[in-house]
Amino acid sequence: MKKVALTGDRPTGNLHLGHLVGSLRSRVEMQNSFDQYIMLADVQALTDYFEKPQKVADSVLEVIADYLAVGINPELSTIFIQSQIPELSELTMYYMNLVSLGRLERNPTVKAEIAQRKFGESVPAGFLCYPISQAADITAFKAEIVPVGEDQLPMIELSNEIVRKFNRIYCTNCLKESAAHLSKTTRLVGIDGKAKASKSLNNAIFLSDSPEIIKQKVQAMYTDPGHVKISDPGTVEGNVVFAYLGAFHDNEEEISSLKKKYSQGGLGDAVLKSLLNDVLQKLLQPIREKRAILNRKDLLEICFVGTKKAKSVAQKTLFEVKSAIGIDFFAKNLGDCK
Ligand code: ATP
Ligand code: MG
Repeated sequence: MKKVALTGDRPTGNLHLGHLVGSLRSRVEMQNSFDQYIMLADVQALTDYFEKPQKVADSVLEVIADYLAVGINPELSTIFIQSQIPELSELTMYYMNLVSLGRLERNPTVKAEIAQRKFGESVPAGFLCYPISQAADITAFKAEIVPVGEDQLPMIELSNEIVRKFNRIYCTNCLKESAAHLSKTTRLVGIDGKAKASKSLNNAIFLSDSPEIIKQKVQAMYTDPGHVKISDPGTVEGNVVFAYLGAFHDNEEEISSLKKKYSQGGLGDAVLKSLLNDVLQKLLQPIREKRAILNRKDLLEICFVGTKKAKSVAQKTLFEVKSAIGIDFFAKNLGDCK
């Protein structure tokens, strides 16, 4: 039996290079050796996009197109839509009782997202609780491995706390703990130098960006504001161009020698940006071409088939969960009638 892996993305826009290094590449590798589920987390996306439902709905197929373009194979990975499996929301309800409000408010990723979204005192209850719904997603499929970026570590920690508490209180072992699978680049910075490239911050290079847009975004990348003349010594740390070269240029020797030259002085930003542009154009061209030939009908069919399969797995776990709590009334009644 293969181990189960589960991941997902919020359909809040197209996928970007942060997704590629943080999670997509691991998924492409893992689909051969794991029973892999990939979720379009539209219910989760609505926790802060509730006033932009069209954006969420439209992004579902765009994200699936990104998956296929980078090499996720629907024959090997089960792609499904969260909102079409209400069992996941039901599991969330049972798990909500096992987590305190204080615990949710202490989650560092959620804290940062609340500040970034300027919710102030008006944090939607659904948003604060989304890590609980992630625990439902992970446990519904008994996932043992979750390939994610660094920002998701607190979610997996919480999910495991829920698993342990649930199994202890209800004297069961029906829920499984999971572990994060971190890739080499666990967090890709934004092109503006902000800590994380993100759809919501619009500071990312998207997998579907045109060659012109890629070039413009590379040109606009944050480097070292103190590096004015080519002869000035430049700073590598915090320099976005070096962060992206580190993540996408496979010639490590060349990167080390460029870093040395840049720190000493004598290497201009224009040369570095031109190299990075070449690297990214080469990387993204085949992805863009694969994406262009996909059609809506096929994409819908892929997630319809995947959702059907995923739903039957989630149903089974929900049944086990309700049995463990002791609220599987009709199953018991049916048993009594036998
Ligand atoms: P949003 O701004 O709507 O939250 P996002 O860009 O943060 O979107 P998500 O859908 O929240 O993307 O993240 C999906 C997955 O991609 C998660 O596993 C996350 O850790 C990973 N990921 C997202 N952005 C990055 C990044 N910049 N670097 C590494 N991994 C990332
Ligand atoms: Mg996010």
